[in-house]
Amino acid sequence: MNMQGRPTRPEEAELIAPTTFTGNRGLDMEEPLIFETGRLDATGVDIDDPEPFASRLGPHERAAPVGLPGLTEPECLRHYVRLSRKNYSIDAGLYPLGSCTMKHNPRLNEKVARLPGFADIHPLQPFSTVQGALELIETLAKTLMALTGMSAIAMSPKAGAHGELCGMMAIKAAIRARGEAATRRIVLVPDSAHGTNPATAALIGFSVRAVPADAQGIVTAAAVKAALGPDVAAIMLTNPNTCGLFEREIVEIAEIVHAAGAYFYCDGANFNAIVGKAKPGDLGVDAMHINLHKTFSTPHGGGGPGAGPVVLSERLAPFAPTPYLGRNGDALVMVEHAEGGQAFGRLSAFHGQMGMFVRALAFILSHGADGLKQASEDAVLSANYIRACLNDLMSSPYGDRPCMHEALFDDRWLKETGITTLDFAKAMIDEGYHPMTVYFPLVVHGAMLIEPTESESKASLDLFIMTLRDLALKALAGDRERFLSAPRLAPRRRLDETRAARQPILKWTKPAPG
Ligand SMILES: *Cc1c(COP(=O)(O)O)cnc(C)c1O
Repeated sequence: MNMQGRPTRPEEAELIAPTTFTGNRGLDMEEPLIFETGRLDATGVDIDDPEPFASRLGPHERAAPVGLPGLTEPECLRHYVRLSRKNYSIDAGLYPLGSCTMKHNPRLNEKVARLPGFADIHPLQPFSTVQGALELIETLAKTLMALTGMSAIAMSPKAGAHGELCGMMAIKAAIRARGEAATRRIVLVPDSAHGTNPATAALIGFSVRAVPADAQGIVTAAAVKAALGPDVAAIMLTNPNTCGLFEREIVEIAEIVHAAGAYFYCDGANFNAIVGKAKPGDLGVDAMHINLHKTFSTPHGGGGPGAGPVVLSERLAPFAPTPYLGRNGDALVMVEHAEGGQAFGRLSAFHGQMGMFVRALAFILSHGADGLKQASEDAVLSANYIRACLNDLMSSPYGDRPCMHEALFDDRWLKETGITTLDFAKAMIDEGYHPMTVYFPLVVHGAMLIEPTESESKASLDLFIMTLRDLALKALAGDRERFLSAPRLAPRRRLDETRAARQPILKWTKPAPG
């Protein structure tokens, strides 16, 4: 029974929810593919038969109908609305994905992002007609530089990974300008890093050398020192790191990296934990991307939309990509070509993601300096609350140490149960929770990475904690069946995820008649 006294155990639910004729479960609809429901004789629009005409297609003329699915207008509408209801979103419930920062997106942001002066402009419009939009980009750029304590910024990267590419290309250009392109070919990446870090380095021709974290889950200056050499171009370090811990030796690491002639790229995806508390510029960072869509709201997921502006140190500023904002007299312009400049080139077609800029600035201005700082503090407090309330049941890889914005558990506590991290995550779906990030970071066995963010109320956190405690106690009591067969209440049961990834069926073929 749940707190309202309703039966929630899967077995009980199965008793009261027999197999139905339609395949629907209550108002949870089965939705076939549009090609399966569509008919050839239905259409949502009336089109007059064409006047007789002589075809000029000759042998290329279609012999059979094109086969597009025909639906009435209400059927078509329902198809897409039903599909949309299968989405889980931050607007539907808690979304505890660590490393993704799924936070509340205030509706105010959406409202201003849709203002025609921001939403309906075209990147090729004359600058004189978009001065307000350019001013917004400039204000956001200056705010981000102030928050990070850095001296330059490139606004055009369109995601965190794109920002990494931008920052690393600036570093590569700086190294080339020093005449060391042939010798400095190594990028140091801790083994807990997000996969995009080594991928970025490799994509632009660097080789990756792994730096181990210590038993406390952080990278030590000593470990970096051991990996440094005259062949190293840069280190890519995430702070707070992907284990949810602040890299305590970061200042010392920056110093020894600089002394060795290399640059310090910081992955700023976890900036949400330290906005208003610490400035990357004070920590010795040369380049850092900011995932606007993680730190400063914006609905995101499934690869977009996002924006990943990159702040740069004075040393790297000359290598920032074009176009960038400049002034022609009083007027704001986008500088497309800088004569004699050292820009590494153009990173993307236009000037960045306008909609994300508007949302981020709306979020920043409506919070104010004090509100941004409080958001970071609350995000860290929420994560520590969860950690402290689950610590007696679930095991943490790095002991009882406080975390930053995400709480990390491993699977040692499940060892004797025959239940895996995946089984536990699937059981959360039956409880109506999107699972936390699982099996990442890779260095932690059976990792469960929970990031509640600042947006959840205490009541919401408490219900989540009680649910996880209830599940954990059942797992420890040996109720294997509940976990191994989960999810039982979702529209689909356990999928063959490996096969889905390796052999996806991307094309619908009409079943043979009969
Ligand atoms: C999300 C994330 C990235 C990549 O950012 P995208 O905007 O998804 O491209 C890089 N590093 C870390 C640590 C992240 O969490």
